[in-house]
Amino acid sequence: MKRKLRLWGWPLGHSLSPLMQGIALDLLGLEWGYVAEPVKPEGLKEAVSQFRRDPACWGANVTIPHKQAIMEHLDEISPLARQIGAVNTVTRLPGGGLRGENTDVGGLAQSIQAKGLDPGGLRGVILGAGGAARASARVLSDLGIAEITLFARRPPGSTWWENLLERRARPSTSIRSWNQICAYLKEQGPEDRQVIINATPVGMWPEISASPLDPGQLSLVPRGSWVVDLVYRPRMTRLVTEARSLGFNTLTGEGMLVGQGALSLEMWIQKPLSPEVVEAMCQAVRKELEGSSC
Ligand code: NAP
Repeated sequence: MKRKLRLWGWPLGHSLSPLMQGIALDLLGLEWGYVAEPVKPEGLKEAVSQFRRDPACWGANVTIPHKQAIMEHLDEISPLARQIGAVNTVTRLPGGGLRGENTDVGGLAQSIQAKGLDPGGLRGVILGAGGAARASARVLSDLGIAEITLFARRPPGSTWWENLLERRARPSTSIRSWNQICAYLKEQGPEDRQVIINATPVGMWPEISASPLDPGQLSLVPRGSWVVDLVYRPRMTRLVTEARSLGFNTLTGEGMLVGQGALSLEMWIQKPLSPEVVEAMCQAVRKELEGSSC
C-alpha cells in the first residue's frame, strides 16, 4: 500500500517540509506521498476524521495554527507533547488510532548540539512565550542550563513553567516584560555569557528588516554569548546578521526545521535515518532558502 503523509497548517504558503520529506522518501526508495494540505481552523476536525478513515494515511506534520488545537482530535498524546502543549507530528497506532508527538524539542536539541553549543555555564534568555518558546525552555533545561529568563510582551504567569521542565536539575526561572530586556542586559557582568533564543516571529519574511533586539541592545550582550534565531525564512535574519557582525556565535533556524522533520520521518518509518539522508534534507532546505527571495 502506498502510504500517505500529510502536512496540516494555515496558511501553508512556502512550506519547506514537502521538499525535504520528498527528497528523503526518494533516497529511502519509498513511494509514499507527502502532501501539504492547507486546513483552516474550522476544517481541522474533518481533516483528521478523513485521515483516520483512510488506512493509507500513515502520518502527518502539524504546523501553525493547529499545534495545540489538534490535541483534542487525537487518541493518544506523548508525554513530551503534553508537557510542551503542542503536537507537530501525528503517527498511526497499531490499532489504527492516532498519536500526537512533538519533535520540535528533539530537532532544536540536535541542532544546538550539532553546532557545539553547550548551554551548561550560560544564562538562558528566551524571547517570546508561545510553543517555540516552550520547546526552547525545555531544551535549555534538558541540556543543563542553570538559569532561564523569559521575555514576553504579554508576560504569562509563573504557571507557564508548570509541567514543562523535568524536575531533575531544574534551572531557576523568571519571566519579565519585553521592555525590561535592556535592564536585564545591563545587569549582566562581562563573564555572564548568554544564550539568547528568538522564539518570536519577529524578523520573519516578509518583515525582514525587523529584529527582536536592536543593535544597542546587542552591544550590551557579554562577549562569547550565543544568539539563536528559530526563524528560518530568511535563513540569515537581521538578528543573526547583526549578531555575527558583533562577533557572537550564532545558530539559524534551519537546523531545527530539518531536525524536527527528520525525527518525524523516523517515527513514520520506525527506524533511524542515515546521516546521508539527513544531510540531503539539510542541503535541499539550504539551497531553497538561499535561492528564494522570501
Ligand atoms: P506562537 O505560539 O504564535 O508564539 C509567538 C510568540 O511571539 C508569542 O509569545 C507572541 O507574543 C510573540 N510575538 C509575536 N510578535 C511579537 C512582537 N512583535 N514582539 C514581541 N513578541 C512577539 O508561535 P511559535 O509556534 O512559538 O513560533 C514562533 C516562531 O518560531 C515562528 O514564527 C517561527 O519563525 C519559529 N519556529 C521555528 C521552528 C523551526 O523549525 N525553526 C519551529 C517552530 C517555530 P503575543 O502572544 O503577545 O502575540
